[in-house]
Amino acid sequence: MKTRVVIIGAGVVGASIARVLSRYENLEVHLIEKAVDAGMGVSKANTGIIHPGHEDDPDRYPLRAKLCVRGNRLWYQWTQELRIPAKWPGELMVALEEEDMKVAEHYLELARRNGVPGVRLVDRDELLKLEPNVNPNAAGALWAPTAGMMSSPVAAVALTENAVDNGVRFHPETEVRGIRVERGEVKGVETNRGFFEADVVINAAGLYADKISAMAGIDTFTIRPRRGQYYIFDDDAGPKVRRIVHQTPTPTTKGVYVITEMNDGVMIGPTAEDLPEDAKDDTSTTREGLEFVWEMAKKLVKGLPPRKKVIRTFAGLRPEPPDGRWIIEAYDDPLGFINVAGIRSPGLTAAPAIAHYVVEELIQGKLDVKLTQKSSWNPYGRGFWFKALPREKQAELIKRDPAYGRVICTCRTITEGDIVNAINRMKRMGVKTISLDGVKLRTGVMGGTCQGAFCRVRIASIIAREAGIPLWKVTQKGEGSEYGIGDVKVLLRGEKDEE
Ligand SMILES: Cc1cc2nc3c(=O)[nH]c(=O)nc-3n(C[C@H](O)[C@H](O)[C@H](O)COP(=O)(O)OP(=O)(O)OC[C@H]3O[C@@H](n4cnc5c(N)ncnc54)[C@H](O)[C@@H]3O)c2cc1C
Repeated sequence: MKTRVVIIGAGVVGASIARVLSRYENLEVHLIEKAVDAGMGVSKANTGIIHPGHEDDPDRYPLRAKLCVRGNRLWYQWTQELRIPAKWPGELMVALEEEDMKVAEHYLELARRNGVPGVRLVDRDELLKLEPNVNPNAAGALWAPTAGMMSSPVAAVALTENAVDNGVRFHPETEVRGIRVERGEVKGVETNRGFFEADVVINAAGLYADKISAMAGIDTFTIRPRRGQYYIFDDDAGPKVRRIVHQTPTPTTKGVYVITEMNDGVMIGPTAEDLPEDAKDDTSTTREGLEFVWEMAKKLVKGLPPRKKVIRTFAGLRPEPPDGRWIIEAYDDPLGFINVAGIRSPGLTAAPAIAHYVVEELIQGKLDVKLTQKSSWNPYGRGFWFKALPREKQAELIKRDPAYGRVICTCRTITEGDIVNAINRMKRMGVKTISLDGVKLRTGVMGGTCQGAFCRVRIASIIAREAGIPLWKVTQKGEGSEYGIGDVKVLLRGEKDEE
């Protein structure tokens, strides 16, 4: 008989675990997500850095330190296999003052202890060569060449799609409301869509992992939201930076990053603000938070793009465990329950390594589940972007499907073909509600200069057509976020309003 595994939460962590588990044939794996799609929680809004692994103290956070370094290496392979846009520009931890070089030296020592390759101190001259836009008065920096960046919104959906391609069942719009435990063993999860039997339940519920854990009788921790606010500039706005740049951390701030995103726009942020435990949805931005980001970024680089070139501000929430320690554990009581909770930064970086750790150390190790490799497992993702194809391939594709010749998102050159392809893949993956955010995560539409002002209605119309629903029923991210209030021209056409 197959071992039944339920994973709660299709963020980058739960989806990575699903992908690793999809390699084994003697498992039945269900990935359960309360939102309309994968990757709509913490994993949607972050800095997107694949950290090298020299910022975690191996004495205080041994697991974080180990899994971050391993995750960095795994993403080299995973981003290629899954076709997640990524680049590896390296990272500069800038010492703005001479005395900050001591802080940089401390992180050099951590790099050595964590086994991070290539990390070294650079003086001002070399710093300015590596990053001409950095503050010319800076004393020097710590250079970490293995740092990368990825399009983090794409990650969880690409991982989930690949897991589904390999046999995992994805259940969006399914909220876990209880965990059934009998005689000290987990038996499954209660949801708004019925009961899922399970021998192993993995809690990867992000900000809500404390609530899920309490449902299994383990209420020993709380997860607090730590907010991070950002600015994004227009893709064409300069000056830019070549590397990932941030300042040496101080006791009061970990500092602000200045980066050039995957889409070529400059991004600055984030703040680190501890919010009350019940503010798990508070992704608002504030004047003070944004001012702080601006001031910090201004100290770090010679030039920022002008404020009028800001196209968006936004905030993400880190799931902060009580003492900064990730809670990755399998329990004796209830047996079969695994917490992967409080996965704060660098959780994006470590996600592939966390997944291997959970499968190898906890499922195979502690729970003693024997796993058999599938003879055929497909590591490759389906994503592609028309704009990135060579000209001949584009012409071929347009010939086969003229929708690839109709540009819908003019800011980012995304075609109707890209959008329809994304919608078809969403359906195949098990997404029930094709939302504007779901299409945005996969294609990048509405992320450019116009932020959807020009193209949103056209994208919503394509969704309406492909999903067979009226335009005003298309939602931003599921029920309650409908695009419109009804058919406003029904009387004009002399028809009866059905709604
Ligand atoms: C501002 C900021 C900057 C960051 N920068 C970086 C960075 O540069 N590099 C890096 O490595 N990391 C970074 N991180 C950290 C990283 O984003 C997180 O560690 C990671 O995204 C956590 O993923 P997750 O899967 O644990 O959580 P989530 O993505 O939140 O996934 C959990 C999922 O569980 C679902 N869920 C919750 N409750 C239920 C329920 N009852 N039933 C069903 N489903 C449920 C949620 O809807 C959600 O989709 C940053 C985080 C923030 C906020």
